[in-house]
Amino acid sequence: MPVGPLSRRVSRQVAVTWGKRTVLIGGDAPVVVQSMTNTDTANPIATAIQVKELAQAGSEVVRVTVNTPEAAREVVALREQLDRMGVDVPLVGDFHYNGHKLLTQYPDCAQALSKYRINPGNVGSASKRDGNFAQMVEVAARYGKPVRIGVNWGSLDQALLARLMDENAARAVPWDAMQVMREALVTSAIDSAKQAEAVGLPGNAIILSAKVSNVQDVVAVYRDLARRCDYPLHVGLTEAGMGSKGIVASTAALAVLLQEGIGDTIRVSLTPEPGGDRTREVIVAQEILQTMGLRAFTPMVIACPGCGRTSSTFFQELADRIQTYLRTQMPVWRAAYPGVESMQVAVMGCVVNGPGESRHADIGISLPGADEAPVAPVFVDGERTVTLKGEHIAEEFQAIVDAYVVRRYGAQLKPAERTPA
Ligand code: SF4
Repeated sequence: MPVGPLSRRVSRQVAVTWGKRTVLIGGDAPVVVQSMTNTDTANPIATAIQVKELAQAGSEVVRVTVNTPEAAREVVALREQLDRMGVDVPLVGDFHYNGHKLLTQYPDCAQALSKYRINPGNVGSASKRDGNFAQMVEVAARYGKPVRIGVNWGSLDQALLARLMDENAARAVPWDAMQVMREALVTSAIDSAKQAEAVGLPGNAIILSAKVSNVQDVVAVYRDLARRCDYPLHVGLTEAGMGSKGIVASTAALAVLLQEGIGDTIRVSLTPEPGGDRTREVIVAQEILQTMGLRAFTPMVIACPGCGRTSSTFFQELADRIQTYLRTQMPVWRAAYPGVESMQVAVMGCVVNGPGESRHADIGISLPGADEAPVAPVFVDGERTVTLKGEHIAEEFQAIVDAYVVRRYGAQLKPAERTPA
């Protein structure tokens, strides 16, 4: 039986652009990592700083809240500030309730954004819904901006849900309430997309999402959505939660769908700890894609969990130090050393699995366990090269990693193009 993801679902491809930067979503493009700020968009400096952090962490598209006239007005200042900072990541505006007013009353905001997110459940009361929705779509069509139609079960179109409930009640064998809810999500997304096309938005300018906060429901909804349309899909578990719960739940849902070839762009909706780092959601999204073998972003450190044979915390400190070092080097290495993102580094705690795992990695170190001689053999491309000992093992191993990066990945560049690691 073949190992690896099933073939990618066939979808249209949407281009999200800013200046010379184009991010392709869907079709044969790699799965795109997205994130969202949690700053007040009316504060363009604070928001620009966070957008830059998210982009540097690897977010390829960043969404910002556009909820008030002040926020809409400041989107232009935000975009200009980012351009001055050399951050060309496309910005997406997240609109609810008043998006039709903001997009029409602030045309500079509409143009400064690279994509709009519209929630069809939050565009006005039943009598105004279609008109407000059409107004936003007309703006998108006029400025050539793609739209994500993002349905969320916390803000589901209540009129549609009521109609489907009535139809369900007339069934000989009615569905359970959750099945009707899932159907309402999928129907709302697809019907809204058709409506947007009827208003004049091209079919290759539409991305769909239908987010739910329960893993099994999100898998069921996206399988259905994938089967019933060919729009690119933005996949994620909404309100995933904090810490390990949020990471595990998001990973469980995304892994199932990505393995089935479903998902063209992802976001991991983590709740940061108070004062926590917003870029965590980007790193988790990248790690999901990289550990599944779908994309490579940063060299990965393979480290054993440690056990009673581990002689000290030095092994954990070295694994952490190397992982952090590799990630912080990537903004420079990415351009200077193409392919380095696929490098594997092993940091192991004793002789039991240390040499074996280190040989399998591109470069590895096997630290001494309890009762072992205080030496740390280093393996490069499967061969034992040097043995480190003494007070400066961490610094010396890092220098060996640097030299390996230059030798292996810099070799693809002409000598004049090489950058010292
Ligand atoms: S490699 Fe050694 S220290 Fe690490 S988990 Fe295995 S036995 Fe324990």
